[in-house]
Parts: sequence; structure tokens; C-alpha cells
Amino acid sequence: MKRARVLLLNSAIGPLDYRVERDQPVEPGSVVLAPLGPRQLTGVVWEPDHMPSDAEVGDNRLRPLAGVYDIPPLQAPLRRLIEWTADYYLAPPAAVLRMALASASALDGGRTVIEYRPTGLIPDRMTPQRTQALERLGDRQGLIRELAMIAGVSDGVIRGLVNAGAIEAIEVSIDDPFPYPDPDHAPPALSAEQGAAAAALVEAVGQGGFNTFLLDGVTGSGKTEVYFEAVAAALRMGKQTLVLLPEIALTEPFLRRFSARFGCAPVAWHSDLRQTQRRHAWRAIVTGEAKVVVGARSALFLPYANLGLIVVDEAHEASFKQEDGVMYHARDVAVMRAQFERLPIVLASATPAIETRAQVTAGRYAELKLPTRHGGAQMPDIAAVDLLADPPPRGRWLAPTLLAAVEETIERGEQVLLFLNRRGYAPLTLCRACGHRFQCPNCTAWMVEHRLTSRLACHHCGHVMPVPRRCPACETEDALVACGPGVERIADEIAALLPDARTVIVTSDTIWSPARAAEFVGRMEDGEIDIVVGTQLVTKGYHFPELTLVGVVDADLGLTGGDLRAAERSFQQIAQVAGRAGRGAKPGRVLIQTREPNAPVIRALVAGDAEGFYAAETEARREAGMPPFGRLAAIIVSSEDLAEAASTARMIGRSAPSVEGMAVFGPAPAPLAMLRGRHRQRLLVHARRQLDVQDVIRTWLGALEWPRSVRVAVDVDPYSFV
Ligand SMILES: [Zn+2]
Ligand SMILES: [Zn+2]
Repeated sequence: MKRARVLLLNSAIGPLDYRVERDQPVEPGSVVLAPLGPRQLTGVVWEPDHMPSDAEVGDNRLRPLAGVYDIPPLQAPLRRLIEWTADYYLAPPAAVLRMALASASALDGGRTVIEYRPTGLIPDRMTPQRTQALERLGDRQGLIRELAMIAGVSDGVIRGLVNAGAIEAIEVSIDDPFPYPDPDHAPPALSAEQGAAAAALVEAVGQGGFNTFLLDGVTGSGKTEVYFEAVAAALRMGKQTLVLLPEIALTEPFLRRFSARFGCAPVAWHSDLRQTQRRHAWRAIVTGEAKVVVGARSALFLPYANLGLIVVDEAHEASFKQEDGVMYHARDVAVMRAQFERLPIVLASATPAIETRAQVTAGRYAELKLPTRHGGAQMPDIAAVDLLADPPPRGRWLAPTLLAAVEETIERGEQVLLFLNRRGYAPLTLCRACGHRFQCPNCTAWMVEHRLTSRLACHHCGHVMPVPRRCPACETEDALVACGPGVERIADEIAALLPDARTVIVTSDTIWSPARAAEFVGRMEDGEIDIVVGTQLVTKGYHFPELTLVGVVDADLGLTGGDLRAAERSFQQIAQVAGRAGRGAKPGRVLIQTREPNAPVIRALVAGDAEGFYAAETEARREAGMPPFGRLAAIIVSSEDLAEAASTARMIGRSAPSVEGMAVFGPAPAPLAMLRGRHRQRLLVHARRQLDVQDVIRTWLGALEWPRSVRVAVDVDPYSFV
């Protein structure tokens, strides 16, 4: 009689034991189907000593496993990573496991699936819903459910269109092999600097073993070409590589460079994949057929068959931190995965995080530096524009100095990037007659006007409403005024002042898929665009040789948050966007609009003194005992009921244990006191570095009870302080 402990894909249920039938090939890591009540759940067999169960039952009461999936078992290093992640971030192991088994349909295998796509035929009988569906679908392809979601109609409407011949079924094979990247397709000519860094990485890949490298190179220094040599080395050994990027929008420029170097695209993993693409990619990852996988943070937990190298590009990016569900930091977990798998990992960045630099100083990470730009390009010339001494005319946002530079640049036939990290037209809309401000009904946040879509939108919960003709408070007509600038308003200003300039807006509202990003890159390269007005989406990854002027519309914006990393984040963001200027043969220029030209961040950027800025910031963190020299954890209590959230938070605060080297602040209403209809209270735990703060919090919260309608989330090493 054999029994197996199974971690089920259900966070509410702990691990359970099952009976293994004689013909069932089960070992730790096997993916199985297990009965639970009348249902069957997917789960993974685990070593009992790694996954204690509080529901142990005798042999005679065990239910048999319902089946074993025909896929390779999850390997031990991935099982250890799942345990570590659950433990460190105080998350249910099942929630972490779910990220590894990220394609439920892939488990079943299957050679082909049926997808659907519009034929272009318009049925005789049209309804408003059919019209809407065909309009929204365009030429997209997918499962019935996916098409129904894209079109915003029921499955029935799509099926009706299939019967009417307006949508056709297509058989899609999910087992077509992915092309094999060729390490010798187009090796680059590396500079001596690049060559030395690449040689160190290639050696580490060859030797195997855990080793963390910080590839610290200025913008335009050719970091990608350097780590591509490590990828080539892994390919020659038949091993897989995972490249993590901070957001999907960056995948497109990456895919182009990758294809140019290796002759074909890598396997992409991100949230924009269709279900069949996801299933195809997942199976290729598990079998080892996918040699290079590029993905967003969710690619980190996939069950690679034969991983030989991990690269985290733009490793300083805050978007590697997941802010809901399992609140993990993908850069930190990637290092842990490399440690469990015993392989080298490369963190690439022009502006490394203070946490990463501290690891280099402590001797735990090896540093590879690329201090000069590739191909003889010079670093751009950076200057501040003092908005108090050189202000824009009333109602405008671009100072005369910046505007003149924009005109000169486009007259020379070169390109301009204006950076403002604010989507929409204006961050606040109010009524001129009565002062009414439009606030989101679900959040403590203003509704942001989007003129491109004639809507007011909340950027926190997605609530949208049409821009009303009359004020809802005083009923005055046409009295709404926009306050402050967003990217759309800057584009309007340009259109009024330079009517012949060809301007595009680049934000997540206009570039929502890799295909849209590809279109933008193509138009930039073909010289069809003079001016880009964009958010942080355009600050990194792109390489446009004709882009020679970068204007930062409001450098003070990032400093207003006032959290721990505000200055560091501002520095990184502006240094990255400045790094888009002058990457080719022509020199670049950067103008930073600010009301505080003497702020340390601005002075460091203008002087090109990154080292000095980092040294001062690091010292300030050390003195305050802040990360990485101390530890933080946030406890966020939320409920639809204000009083309930507040009383639970107070109860948690009152029962805080007294531990030497640890202090608990709050509770206080979170800066975003209401989010998606839930009232939020925060407590902040600050501890010295050596303290096992997770263990303290686990014991502390484990002894408490709160109403079911209250949610208590713990954010270990928080990045968001709202
Ligand atoms: Zn009004
Ligand atoms: Zn909202």
C-alpha cells in the first residue's frame, strides 16, 4: 500500500494524503488528479517532510488518486522554490504552485484545437450585438470564449455568427515545433569592454553552479549583446534560458534584436497570449523544446526541463514586484531559483537598485561594468530647465527653452521624446461654477480625463464614465475644466504650436499589445514620427538612432510620493528616459523641466554623478535602518465596511508582539484609503535585518481572528506605499 501527499490547487485546503494504485507511476513532483468531495482537483505529489499536513488519516480511509497526468514531474529545485516563496512571502503554497501550472489545458496534452476567426462575410440578419462583435473582433482569432470576451458579447452570439458563416472554425496544431535559435547565426562584433564581460558570463554558463552577476552598463552600452553571448553558450550546451522583462511592451524590441542575433524568435510568455499559444508554450517549456523563453514575471515559476541560465533585464524595475495575489518580487525570487537550480543569473541594468548594489558591495554578486556607450556614441548632454526662472506661458506646460529645442530638432529631421508619466489629458477635472471635483466612487482617487476616448477613468480600479455635459452637483452646462497636464494635453499643446509636427502618444492606452508596439517601432524607424509624447512605457528598451532630444516635462512628479524609494525611482526613471537620446552617431540632448534645480536628484543627473547620488542615498538608508539594511513588511487590512476595517486593524495593532529590534507603526488609513470599493488600513512593521520578521508575523496573525468579510494581506519587502 502506497500513499502520496498531494498539494492541491486550492489555497483554502491544506495538503492531503491519497492512496496510490499499483499501476500509477507516482513520484514527488508528479502532477495528479485527486478527488475532493464530489469534485476532482489537480495537484502535485510532494515529500511529506517538506509539506506537513494537519489532516492525516489512516490507510483504510484514504481515497485513491483519480489519475496521473502524462507530463514530467516538477523537479526538486522548483518544489524547493515554491516552498521558499510561500514561506518568505507568507502565501499559500497552492497559490505559488498555480503559477507553475499556469496552463490548465496544457496538462491534458492534445494535438490540435479548434479556434475561430471572422471570414469577412456579413450575415443577412444583423443585430446590434452581431455588429458590435464583428467590429471589435477585426481579424482576431481565438476560442469561442476568448472571442466573446474580446467582443463583449455572450458565447451564443459568437456561435450564431459561426452558424451564419461570418466566423469560421480552423484547426490549430499546438504541437508544431518551435524553431531552434542558432547560436552562430549572426555573432556580433563586441568592443573590448563587452568582450570581457561576455567572456565572464560564458565561462559561468559553462561551469554551471550558482553565481549572480550584476551587468551594470550605461544606457546604450550594449548590455543585451553581452548577455546574448551567455544565451548562445547555454544553447550550445543544449540548455534552456529564461529572460525576464519588466513588461510586455518591452518584448517587441527584444524579439527583434533576438531574431537578428539568433535567426528566429524565442518563445514568449505573457498575459496577452491566447489560450492555445499559452498551452503550446507551456508544453514546450516542460519538454525542454523551448530553448529560450522571454517573459514577464509569471514566466519565473514555469517548470523548465533543463534550465541553464536566467537573465533579468532592466532588473531595477519596480514592475517586477507583484502587487496582488502572491506579492513577490520577481528579481529576488529569480535569484533564489538560480540558487536552487545551481545556475548563473545575470541582473542587467543601467541604474541598478540600491538593494542590488549593496549585494555587490557585500561581495555576494559579481559586477561586470560597461562604462561607455557602444559604437562610439557619446552620453547625452543633460541640462535642467528651471520652471521658476523660465516658465511656460499661462495654460501651457513646455518652457520656451524646451520648445525651441523641440523645433530645432525636428527642423534637422531628427526625433523628439517628451516624457510625462501621466496617462490621459488631465489628472483632475473640476467644475468652474461650483468647484465640484470628479472622484472615483470606488477609490480615493480623482477621475482622469481621457479625451481620445471622451471618458473619465479611474486608473486604480478601471471605473469609467462618459464626460458629462453638465456638472452633476450644480447642473451648470459646459463648466468642466481640466487641471494639470497628462500626455494627451502635451500632445495638444504641440499640435497647437507646431501644427506640422507628426506626433504620437505612447502609453498603455495606445500600446496595449506586442503588435501595437511593433507598429510603433516600425513607424519610428521609418521616420514617420517627429515627436513621441509618452509615459514610462517608452523610457527603456527602445533604440532609435534618430532620436536626439529628450524633454522631461515634470521631473518633480516622482518626488511627491515621498516614500522610501521616491528619490531612487526618480533618478532611475529620468536616467533611463535620458538614455534614449543620441544612441546613434548623432549626439543627444536632454532637458529636464523642474521647479527644484538644486534637488540632489536633479543635480546628480545634470552632473552625470550616479555614483555620488547612490552613495548618498545608500548612506541615508543605512542610517535609518531601511532596506536593504533593515526590513519592512506592510499589513493591509481591507473591508467594504469602514468601521470593520478600522476595528480589525486596531485589534491587530493592539496585539502586536513586543520583539526586540522590531517596531510596529499604525494602523492608519492607507494613502489610497479606499480602493475598488474597499476601505483600507495599513500597519508597517520595521525590523532589523537579522530578524525573522515573517516568523513573527505568522505567529502574531495566526493567533487572531477577524470577520470573514475582512481581508488581511501581508506585503513583505513592500514597494508600494499606497
Ligand atoms: Zn458644478
Ligand atoms: Zn477607482
